[in-house]
Amino acid sequence: MINYNTLPDYAARKVIINELCKCFKSIRHYFVGESICKREIDVLQIGNTKNTVLFCGGFHGMEYLTVLALLKYAEECALALKNEDEPLSNALKIRGVTIVPCVNPDGVEIAINGSCAALNFKELVEKVCTNTKYWQANAAGVDINHNFDAGWCELRQKEIELGINGPSPTRFGGKTPHSEPETKALVKLCGSINFERAIAFHSQGREIYFSYGEHTPRLCSVLAQRFADVSGYKAAQPEDIATGGGFKDWVIDKLHKPALTVEIGLGKNPLPLSDFENEYKIVRKILTEATLL
Ligand SMILES: [Zn+2]
Repeated sequence: MINYNTLPDYAARKVIINELCKCFKSIRHYFVGESICKREIDVLQIGNTKNTVLFCGGFHGMEYLTVLALLKYAEECALALKNEDEPLSNALKIRGVTIVPCVNPDGVEIAINGSCAALNFKELVEKVCTNTKYWQANAAGVDINHNFDAGWCELRQKEIELGINGPSPTRFGGKTPHSEPETKALVKLCGSINFERAIAFHSQGREIYFSYGEHTPRLCSVLAQRFADVSGYKAAQPEDIATGGGFKDWVIDKLHKPALTVEIGLGKNPLPLSDFENEYKIVRKILTEATLL
Protein backbone atom coordinates (compact mmCIF):
# COMPACT_ATOMS: atom_id res chain seq x y z
CA MET A 1 0.00 0.00 0.00
CA ILE A 2 1.60 3.26 -1.10
CA ASN A 3 1.17 6.11 1.38
CA TYR A 4 -0.01 9.37 -0.21
CA ASN A 5 -0.80 10.94 3.13
CA THR A 6 2.51 12.77 3.18
CA LEU A 7 3.89 16.15 2.10
CA PRO A 8 5.49 15.26 -1.24
CA ASP A 9 8.96 16.74 -0.80
CA TYR A 10 11.94 15.34 -2.71
CA ALA A 11 12.63 12.47 -0.29
CA ALA A 12 8.96 11.48 0.00
CA ARG A 13 8.61 11.51 -3.80
CA LYS A 14 11.63 9.24 -4.19
CA VAL A 15 10.04 6.76 -1.77
CA ILE A 16 6.71 6.81 -3.63
CA ILE A 17 8.29 6.54 -7.09
CA ASN A 18 10.60 3.71 -6.00
CA GLU A 19 7.63 1.90 -4.54
CA LEU A 20 5.62 2.40 -7.75
CA CYS A 21 8.45 1.11 -9.93
CA LYS A 22 8.92 -1.90 -7.65
CA CYS A 23 5.21 -2.80 -7.72
CA PHE A 24 4.62 -2.19 -11.41
CA LYS A 25 7.06 -3.32 -14.06
CA SER A 26 4.95 -1.47 -16.65
CA ILE A 27 6.12 1.93 -15.37
CA ARG A 28 8.96 3.49 -17.32
CA HIS A 29 10.82 5.97 -15.10
CA TYR A 30 13.49 8.41 -16.20
CA PHE A 31 14.72 11.95 -15.62
CA VAL A 32 14.24 14.73 -18.13
CA GLY A 33 16.58 17.18 -16.47
CA GLU A 34 17.55 18.83 -13.22
CA SER A 35 16.37 21.86 -11.31
CA ILE A 36 18.65 24.80 -10.67
CA CYS A 37 19.61 23.11 -7.34
CA LYS A 38 20.33 19.87 -9.22
CA ARG A 39 17.23 18.01 -8.12
CA GLU A 40 16.10 15.47 -10.72
CA ILE A 41 12.88 16.01 -12.65
CA ASP A 42 11.03 12.69 -12.88
CA VAL A 43 9.09 11.35 -15.83
CA LEU A 44 6.78 8.33 -15.51
CA GLN A 45 5.32 6.62 -18.55
CA ILE A 46 2.62 3.97 -18.53
CA GLY A 47 1.01 2.19 -21.46
CA ASN A 48 1.88 2.99 -25.06
CA THR A 49 4.92 5.26 -24.92
CA LYS A 50 4.78 6.01 -28.66
CA ASN A 51 1.60 8.07 -28.32
CA THR A 52 0.66 9.66 -25.02
CA VAL A 53 -1.29 12.22 -23.03
CA LEU A 54 1.05 14.51 -21.09
CA PHE A 55 0.22 15.39 -17.47
CA CYS A 56 2.38 17.85 -15.53
CA GLY A 57 2.11 19.13 -11.96
CA GLY A 58 4.14 20.89 -9.29
CA PHE A 59 4.86 23.99 -11.39
CA HIS A 60 4.38 26.14 -8.30
CA GLY A 61 5.95 25.51 -4.89
CA MET A 62 2.91 25.57 -2.64
CA GLU A 63 0.70 23.69 -5.11
CA TYR A 64 2.12 20.33 -4.13
CA LEU A 65 -1.20 18.49 -3.86
CA THR A 66 -1.00 18.37 -7.67
CA VAL A 67 2.18 16.28 -7.25
CA LEU A 68 0.40 13.76 -5.05
CA ALA A 69 -2.55 13.61 -7.44
CA LEU A 70 -0.32 12.75 -10.42
CA LEU A 71 1.64 10.14 -8.48
CA LYS A 72 -1.58 8.49 -7.35
CA TYR A 73 -2.94 8.57 -10.88
CA ALA A 74 0.25 6.86 -12.11
CA GLU A 75 -0.55 4.05 -9.69
CA GLU A 76 -4.15 3.87 -10.92
CA CYS A 77 -2.99 3.55 -14.52
CA ALA A 78 -0.37 0.91 -13.71
CA LEU A 79 -2.91 -1.03 -11.66
CA ALA A 80 -5.49 -0.87 -14.46
CA LEU A 81 -2.93 -2.31 -16.90
CA LYS A 82 -1.92 -5.07 -14.50
CA ASN A 83 -5.49 -6.13 -13.77
CA GLU A 84 -6.66 -5.56 -17.34
CA ASP A 85 -9.30 -3.21 -15.94
CA GLU A 86 -11.32 -1.84 -18.83
CA PRO A 87 -11.78 0.70 -20.29
CA LEU A 88 -8.61 2.35 -18.87
CA SER A 89 -6.31 -0.59 -19.65
CA ASN A 90 -7.53 -0.77 -23.25
CA ALA A 91 -7.11 2.97 -23.71
CA LEU A 92 -3.57 2.93 -22.27
CA LYS A 93 -2.51 0.24 -24.73
CA ILE A 94 -3.45 2.58 -27.57
CA ARG A 95 -2.38 5.89 -26.02
CA GLY A 96 -0.34 5.88 -22.83
CA VAL A 97 0.35 8.56 -20.27
CA THR A 98 3.50 10.61 -19.70
CA ILE A 99 3.51 12.09 -16.22
CA VAL A 100 5.82 14.78 -14.83
CA PRO A 101 4.64 14.89 -11.22
CA CYS A 102 6.87 17.78 -10.20
CA VAL A 103 8.15 20.30 -12.74
CA ASN A 104 9.60 22.57 -10.05
CA PRO A 105 11.30 20.38 -7.43
CA ASP A 106 13.12 23.26 -5.70
CA GLY A 107 9.99 25.37 -5.37
CA VAL A 108 8.06 22.52 -3.79
CA GLU A 109 11.01 21.81 -1.51
CA ILE A 110 11.18 25.45 -0.37
CA ALA A 111 7.40 25.63 0.25
CA ILE A 112 7.52 22.46 2.35
CA ASN A 113 10.93 22.64 4.04
CA GLY A 114 11.90 26.32 4.05
CA SER A 115 14.74 28.42 2.67
CA CYS A 116 17.49 25.91 3.57
CA ALA A 117 16.09 23.75 0.77
CA ALA A 118 17.21 26.45 -1.69
CA LEU A 119 20.86 25.54 -0.97
CA ASN A 120 23.03 28.13 -2.79
CA PHE A 121 19.95 30.32 -3.28
CA LYS A 122 19.04 30.38 0.42
CA GLU A 123 20.06 34.02 0.80
CA LEU A 124 18.13 35.12 -2.28
CA VAL A 125 15.01 33.33 -1.06
CA GLU A 126 15.27 34.89 2.40
CA LYS A 127 15.81 38.33 0.88
CA VAL A 128 12.64 38.32 -1.23
CA CYS A 129 10.33 36.22 0.96
CA THR A 130 9.19 36.44 4.56
CA ASN A 131 7.15 33.25 4.63
CA THR A 132 8.45 30.42 2.45
CA LYS A 133 5.25 28.45 3.06
CA TYR A 134 3.82 30.55 0.21
CA TRP A 135 6.77 30.12 -2.18
CA GLN A 136 5.79 29.51 -5.85
CA ALA A 137 8.88 30.16 -8.01
CA ASN A 138 12.01 28.06 -8.54
CA ALA A 139 15.02 28.54 -6.24
CA ALA A 140 16.25 31.51 -8.31
CA GLY A 141 12.93 33.32 -7.82
CA VAL A 142 11.66 32.74 -11.37
CA ASP A 143 8.06 31.64 -11.81
CA ILE A 144 8.29 28.66 -14.19
CA ASN A 145 4.74 29.26 -15.39
CA HIS A 146 5.71 32.81 -16.45
CA ASN A 147 8.89 31.64 -18.18
CA PHE A 148 7.53 29.91 -21.29
CA ASP A 149 7.86 31.55 -24.70
CA ALA A 150 4.22 32.47 -25.34
CA GLY A 151 3.34 36.13 -25.05
CA TRP A 152 6.32 36.41 -22.71
CA CYS A 153 7.15 40.07 -23.47
CA GLU A 154 3.56 41.21 -22.89
CA LEU A 155 3.42 39.29 -19.64
CA ARG A 156 6.80 40.71 -18.56
CA GLN A 157 5.33 44.19 -19.13
CA LYS A 158 2.37 43.37 -16.88
CA GLU A 159 4.76 42.06 -14.21
CA ILE A 160 6.70 45.33 -14.33
CA GLU A 161 3.45 47.29 -13.93
CA LEU A 162 2.81 45.21 -10.80
CA GLY A 163 6.29 46.12 -9.54
CA ILE A 164 7.84 42.73 -10.16
CA ASN A 165 11.29 43.49 -11.58
CA GLY A 166 13.43 40.65 -10.30
CA PRO A 167 13.48 37.41 -8.34
CA SER A 168 10.26 37.01 -6.42
CA PRO A 169 8.29 34.28 -4.64
CA THR A 170 5.79 34.43 -7.50
CA ARG A 171 5.12 35.89 -10.97
CA PHE A 172 8.62 36.91 -12.09
CA GLY A 173 9.03 35.53 -15.61
CA GLY A 174 12.83 35.60 -15.68
CA LYS A 175 15.25 37.60 -17.83
CA THR A 176 14.44 35.72 -21.03
CA PRO A 177 11.92 33.03 -22.00
CA HIS A 178 13.09 29.48 -21.23
CA SER A 179 15.93 30.87 -19.09
CA GLU A 180 15.37 28.28 -16.34
CA PRO A 181 16.50 24.64 -16.35
CA GLU A 182 13.03 23.49 -15.28
CA THR A 183 11.42 25.23 -18.27
CA LYS A 184 14.11 23.85 -20.58
CA ALA A 185 13.52 20.35 -19.24
CA LEU A 186 9.81 20.48 -20.11
CA VAL A 187 10.52 21.94 -23.55
CA LYS A 188 13.03 19.14 -24.14
CA LEU A 189 10.52 16.53 -23.01
CA CYS A 190 7.90 17.90 -25.42
CA GLY A 191 10.40 17.59 -28.25
CA SER A 192 11.32 14.02 -27.36
CA ILE A 193 7.92 12.37 -26.88
CA ASN A 194 4.86 12.10 -29.05
CA PHE A 195 1.93 13.54 -27.12
CA GLU A 196 -1.56 14.38 -28.31
CA ARG A 197 -2.54 16.81 -25.60
CA ALA A 198 -1.15 18.29 -22.40
CA ILE A 199 -2.86 18.96 -19.09
CA ALA A 200 -1.10 21.18 -16.55
CA PHE A 201 -2.19 20.93 -12.92
CA HIS A 202 -2.20 23.83 -10.50
CA SER A 203 -4.16 24.78 -7.39
CA GLN A 204 -6.62 26.10 -6.46
CA GLY A 205 -10.12 27.10 -7.60
CA ARG A 206 -11.69 23.99 -9.18
CA GLU A 207 -11.42 25.65 -12.56
CA ILE A 208 -10.32 24.68 -16.05
CA TYR A 209 -8.56 27.12 -18.40
CA PHE A 210 -8.62 26.06 -22.00
CA SER A 211 -7.70 28.84 -24.38
CA TYR A 212 -4.75 30.93 -25.46
CA GLY A 213 -5.00 33.10 -28.54
CA GLU A 214 -5.73 32.30 -32.14
CA HIS A 215 -4.01 28.91 -32.22
CA THR A 216 -6.30 27.40 -29.59
CA PRO A 217 -7.44 24.06 -31.08
CA ARG A 218 -11.17 23.46 -31.09
CA LEU A 219 -10.68 20.34 -28.99
CA CYS A 220 -9.64 22.50 -26.01
CA SER A 221 -13.15 23.73 -25.31
CA VAL A 222 -14.60 20.27 -25.96
CA LEU A 223 -12.24 18.75 -23.39
CA ALA A 224 -12.84 21.59 -20.91
CA GLN A 225 -16.59 21.11 -21.12
CA ARG A 226 -16.25 17.37 -20.71
CA PHE A 227 -13.92 17.79 -17.69
CA ALA A 228 -16.37 20.30 -16.20
CA ASP A 229 -19.27 17.90 -16.69
CA VAL A 230 -17.61 14.99 -14.90
CA SER A 231 -16.01 17.01 -12.08
CA GLY A 232 -18.24 19.98 -11.37
CA TYR A 233 -15.23 22.24 -12.01
CA LYS A 234 -15.89 25.44 -13.95
CA ALA A 235 -14.50 26.06 -17.44
CA ALA A 236 -13.14 29.61 -17.24
CA GLN A 237 -11.13 32.36 -18.96
CA PRO A 238 -7.93 33.36 -17.14
CA GLU A 239 -7.38 36.79 -15.59
CA ASP A 240 -4.98 39.17 -17.29
CA ILE A 241 -1.83 38.40 -15.28
CA ALA A 242 -2.56 34.68 -15.50
CA THR A 243 -2.36 34.67 -19.30
CA GLY A 244 0.82 34.14 -21.31
CA GLY A 245 4.14 32.68 -20.22
CA GLY A 246 2.55 29.45 -19.08
CA PHE A 247 3.17 25.89 -20.18
CA LYS A 248 -0.35 25.45 -21.55
CA ASP A 249 -0.01 28.75 -23.47
CA TRP A 250 3.26 27.62 -25.02
CA VAL A 251 1.92 24.20 -26.04
CA ILE A 252 -1.04 25.88 -27.75
CA ASP A 253 0.87 28.79 -29.27
CA LYS A 254 4.05 27.07 -30.43
CA LEU A 255 3.13 23.40 -30.80
CA HIS A 256 -0.49 24.01 -31.85
CA LYS A 257 -1.65 21.11 -29.70
CA PRO A 258 -4.55 21.04 -27.26
CA ALA A 259 -3.51 22.06 -23.74
CA LEU A 260 -5.48 22.91 -20.61
CA THR A 261 -4.78 24.09 -17.11
CA VAL A 262 -6.71 22.47 -14.28
CA GLU A 263 -6.81 24.23 -10.90
CA ILE A 264 -7.49 21.54 -8.32
CA GLY A 265 -9.00 22.05 -4.88
CA LEU A 266 -10.81 24.89 -3.26
CA GLY A 267 -9.69 27.20 -0.49
CA LYS A 268 -6.36 28.87 0.07
CA ASN A 269 -2.92 27.73 -1.06
CA PRO A 270 -1.19 25.73 0.23
CA LEU A 271 -4.18 23.42 0.43
CA PRO A 272 -3.96 21.22 3.53
CA LEU A 273 -2.92 17.61 3.12
CA SER A 274 -6.24 16.67 4.71
CA ASP A 275 -7.99 17.93 1.53
CA PHE A 276 -6.14 15.48 -0.68
CA GLU A 277 -8.28 12.38 -0.47
CA ASN A 278 -11.52 14.18 -1.30
CA GLU A 279 -9.98 16.36 -3.99
CA TYR A 280 -8.38 13.35 -5.62
CA LYS A 281 -11.78 11.69 -5.91
CA ILE A 282 -12.83 14.62 -8.09
CA VAL A 283 -9.64 15.21 -10.03
CA ARG A 284 -9.24 11.53 -10.94
CA LYS A 285 -12.40 11.92 -13.03
CA ILE A 286 -10.66 14.64 -15.06
CA LEU A 287 -7.47 12.59 -15.34
CA THR A 288 -9.42 9.58 -16.52
CA GLU A 289 -11.45 11.56 -19.05
CA ALA A 290 -8.24 13.15 -20.37
CA THR A 291 -6.82 9.66 -20.88
CA LEU A 292 -9.93 8.04 -22.36
CA LEU A 293 -11.35 10.71 -24.65
ZN1 LIG B 1 0.10 27.39 -10.19
